[in-house]
Amino acid sequence: MTARTVFLFGTWTLAPDQEPDAEPIMYAMECSVCGAGSESSEDAAVGQRWTFQHVGRNPSHHTFRESITRPWRAWMQP
Ligand SMILES: [Zn+2]
Repeated sequence: MTARTVFLFGTWTLAPDQEPDAEPIMYAMECSVCGAGSESSEDAAVGQRWTFQHVGRNPSHHTFRESITRPWRAWMQP
């Protein structure tokens, strides 16, 4: 996954940040019916567990959205 664009003074490249100091990828789940949401976590299973608790308490809420927050990095090659 990369994107490039050319400017007058160089080429910018944009790619997912996989450096050791990158922010973590974060996962969260949200109910599509009522908008309630799980906490955000580096472990996708946290949000998945939340959906089971939520559907247990709200048996008519069957659809969810997963939000994935991915860090990206941009740099210029002259
Ligand atoms: Zn709900």
